[in-house]
Amino acid sequence: MGYVFDPAPVPSLAVAGSVDRIPVRRIFCIGRNYAAHAREMGKDPDRDPPFFFLKPADSVVEDGATIPYPPETENFHHEAELVAVIGTGGRDIPTERALEHVWGYAVGNDLTRRDLQLKARDQGRPWDLGKGFDRSAPIAPVYPVSAVGHPSKGSIRLTVNGEVRQQADLSELIWSVPEIVSILSHSMELRPGDVIMTGTPAGVGPLVPGDICVVSIEGLGELTTRIGPRE
Ligand code: MN
Repeated sequence: MGYVFDPAPVPSLAVAGSVDRIPVRRIFCIGRNYAAHAREMGKDPDRDPPFFFLKPADSVVEDGATIPYPPETENFHHEAELVAVIGTGGRDIPTERALEHVWGYAVGNDLTRRDLQLKARDQGRPWDLGKGFDRSAPIAPVYPVSAVGHPSKGSIRLTVNGEVRQQADLSELIWSVPEIVSILSHSMELRPGDVIMTGTPAGVGPLVPGDICVVSIEGLGELTTRIGPRE
């Protein structure tokens, strides 16, 4: 048996301070996980069960990359996010054991074609092309839990050309990392290499060609993304 064409390379994330890499299996994203962001999206923050969407594994982008302004949008947005990486799989994981399944944490940017997302939302259609397009998931090198523990508080911040656009604290997450891992694992079996983007604080806004967007999280360093011309 052979493949009829070469299989795609395995998408992967850098590991801070190491030449080893993390093979990415799936990218789960949680919606509206900071109250002030839920309000700016026109929704009431609450403790209704969280909702999830996915990005393709090969949408990951390295720190420092320049990405072209994506096609078919006039409203391309940044979203600063804490990223958790699953190292040990499982299903029906109780919240109190959930952190044992996390390998590490990183800084991420859930890039969004906001016009496509909102149009789909308002029409009751899937969001996929607003969220899961090419190069939509810049993620900085991952720090292992052995080095940084499990960050549950600390500053999360995003600047565009040096101007602060998003500024919050990880303690403001409506659903915590262990809660998210547990809830997801009751819906789908988690596997090593699954990546979870944990939601963005208030202050999302547009990026344009030439912008330099920097996301930083206390203890996890920075993620720099430059926006290039339209493809
Ligand atoms: Mn997001």
